Amino acid sequence: MGNRQQRSKQARLFERLKKLYAEMEAQYDRVARQIGLNCQGCPDNCCVSYFQHHTYVEWAYLWHGLRQLPQQSRERYCQRAQDYRHQCEALLRKGQTPKIMCPLNEDGLCALYPFRLMICRFHGVPNQVSMPDGSRRRFPGCVICQHKTAALSQVPVLDRTASYIKLAELERKFIKEAPHPLPKVDMTLAEMLVQGPPGFMS
Ligand code: SF4
Ligand code: SF4
Repeated sequence: MGNRQQRSKQARLFERLKKLYAEMEAQYDRVARQIGLNCQGCPDNCCVSYFQHHTYVEWAYLWHGLRQLPQQSRERYCQRAQDYRHQCEALLRKGQTPKIMCPLNEDGLCALYPFRLMICRFHGVPNQVSMPDGSRRRFPGCVICQHKTAALSQVPVLDRTASYIKLAELERKFIKEAPHPLPKVDMTLAEMLVQGPPGFMS
């Protein structure tokens, strides 16, 4: 596939990912409304959570957003990502789970909000996902949400399963053009910044 063809295929996949992200947001907003969860003025900040991400297509889309920022900002975030990674490694060596502010967080706000990854979009509310082996993983939502739902007899839950399936489909299509088999992605956002965009991204 030529470069031009590859770029337009990538653009189409990014459009589909953008739509999927919008669906996730709508799902999230519905559940957050039912619970009465509102991030505005939140005294906590979940951007210190230690998340791993697992798809090349999200990694590439994050870089697609990053490339639209002025070079100076991009360099600042990448430098912060280096620092974040070193701090994380030190804590992990001590057996501690890192709780460090995400390098993209600017005064409490996400500098790449439209490009933020799936986990950032689902974290706040109670959610679950059914795995291919039939097991189900549950997540209670952020600490603020857990306080709010503690008194509820029935807790609304967001089901991530359909989104996972759609994301997996996009990922399959995205990596199809890679010139060789790719290792599994298991990275923090900071590692995605430090490493640069996936090598085969156009
Ligand atoms: S998801 Fe929860 S912890 Fe994060 S900003 Fe919103 S209310 Fe605060
Ligand atoms: S990418 Fe944005 S929303 Fe996600 S943790 Fe970082 S600052 Fe927060």
